[in-house]
Amino acid sequence: MNQLAARVKKITPSITLDIAAKAKQMKMQGIDVCSLSSGEPDFDTPQHIKNSAVLALQKGKTKYGPVSGELALKEAIVNKLKKDNKLDYTPDNIIVTNGGKHSLFSLMLALIESGDEVIIPAPYWLSYPEMVRLAQGTPVIVETQAETNYKITPKQLLKAITLKTKLFILNSPSNPTGAVYTYQEIKELAQIIVDNDIWVVSDEIYEKILYSKAEHTSIGAVGEDIFKKTIISNGFSKSYAMTGWRLGYLAGPNDLIKTVSTIQSHSTSNVCTFAQYGAIAALEEEESSKCVQEMLNAFTDRRNSILERIAAIPKISCPIPMGAFYVFIDISQISKSSIQFSDDLLEKYQVAVIPGQVFGNDNCIRISYATDLMSIEKGMNRIEEFIDTLK
Ligand code: PLP
Repeated sequence: MNQLAARVKKITPSITLDIAAKAKQMKMQGIDVCSLSSGEPDFDTPQHIKNSAVLALQKGKTKYGPVSGELALKEAIVNKLKKDNKLDYTPDNIIVTNGGKHSLFSLMLALIESGDEVIIPAPYWLSYPEMVRLAQGTPVIVETQAETNYKITPKQLLKAITLKTKLFILNSPSNPTGAVYTYQEIKELAQIIVDNDIWVVSDEIYEKILYSKAEHTSIGAVGEDIFKKTIISNGFSKSYAMTGWRLGYLAGPNDLIKTVSTIQSHSTSNVCTFAQYGAIAALEEEESSKCVQEMLNAFTDRRNSILERIAAIPKISCPIPMGAFYVFIDISQISKSSIQFSDDLLEKYQVAVIPGQVFGNDNCIRISYATDLMSIEKGMNRIEEFIDTLK
């Protein structure tokens, strides 16, 4: 249809969701598909979180609520940010959104306009550039290397900044690479952001999924000046296995959050009222840390198993992921196209992975280990067989 707005002509649908849907459809047709593509924990939402939402539903929390979120949830978020991230906010600095994706999208609408440049290190979560384009901004992609574990260096950030730069997107732990920036790395990036007076949005959705003593540093906590230029984006999907609940939040300067709230008031209004009570339980009930730890233990076993298997396959390699639940594997010695590789793998060996091209790196594929050990084992056997045919 050629009457569509120019704004949407350059954007593409989310390929990760497409591939996950294709794998699901093949499974429904009775095909034995190993799905290593999904960015969704395979665990059910912990029972105490569900109970809290059910109770809220029974108590009649079924009406419109405040656009920016239930006060009790915003207070719980403020406490969490203080306790976990050493960030000092008040409820006025918080907006509850329909997931991290919605948070980031609304933020782009509030902050970015035509002529603005947004710096995005590649490999990136595939929605970032599209959100920037939808807001009429220009994504400036900075390619990072496996040698730096796909982390942007201060030098690279500095080089990418121009007079038009408005925002830098930082994602640690990273989807798709699992990279986690150290305190020192964050501090150096923060200095450049402050010196050049740009904004940073810190997407911390995987902050609780960390391995081998890796620590999460929230960029807003490394100094007073950077705190003023930081917006935190987080959510409940990954840490608490709540993908379908659609719950996220932004924290940042009061006037910016107010603007995001105005946008939300004309688009989605408040997030599902009773679902927000599930989120309060996730943040406040002691049971939650035990549940997060159990999930983390399972992710750790899976990660170790997958890394062992990758190490045993010649001509492929990956940096060791320190967070999230993905490995980003370099397949450039055996294939010239990550899309071709992924298509053939799904067609011929029924294993779903995501081509790196959609994350801005065509040398790699992303494997998710947010699935059970048996499927990982089976999937890796098939990947090994497939790679054997390519040599
Ligand atoms: N940020 C990153 C890096 C992600 O990988 C995702 C989901 O895959 C999100 C944000 C958004 O998650 P949700 O909208 O489910 O909160």
